Amino acid sequence: MGGPEIERLIGLLAKLPGLGPRSARRTVLRLLQQPETRMLPLAVALAEAARAVKPCGACGNLDSIDPCTICSDSTRDHTVICVVEGVGDLWALERAHVHRGRYHVLGGTLSALAGTGPDDLNVTPLLTRIREGEVSEVILALGATVDGATTMHWLTERIKPLGVLVSRVGQGVPMGGALDVLDDGTLAAALRARRPF
Ligand SMILES: [Zn+2]
Repeated sequence: MGGPEIERLIGLLAKLPGLGPRSARRTVLRLLQQPETRMLPLAVALAEAARAVKPCGACGNLDSIDPCTICSDSTRDHTVICVVEGVGDLWALERAHVHRGRYHVLGGTLSALAGTGPDDLNVTPLLTRIREGEVSEVILALGATVDGATTMHWLTERIKPLGVLVSRVGQGVPMGGALDVLDDGTLAAALRARRPF
């Protein structure tokens, strides 16, 4: 069409979530038509973010400081940890302003089918945080899938003996990857409706 640079860009963008080849072509065309105002600032922002952003050593959130902004915020409730599958879930909960404690990002769920075991998840650091910190409650905000339920039971069996209250968000709420599409009111209701395990 117009040289290998364009094809390469389209190929890279088309692999992103929510973008297929059609949207990738449209996006590339728009960028190429405004190289100075859109394309170069985007290239700089991408390079800077790729260099600066890393997973938080404590909770697994993505941030340019470690511990992350949430973990280092002394005004947040350090006694409550909300466990989520991914950073996208954390973002959704933060946008909805429904949780004033800290988080722990598991990086997935246990899955016999996918061969994901406890060692593949960010589990040991969570148990260490609970043992060493002043944690009194752990809220499990994982997906209402079979794997999500399995993971919540597995975690509960290990957290409860540490003398910490374990609760889960209101049932019937699609947490996990689906959390992102919930509106803030539904999210707030889900967190308020949490019940002990
Ligand atoms: Zn953190």
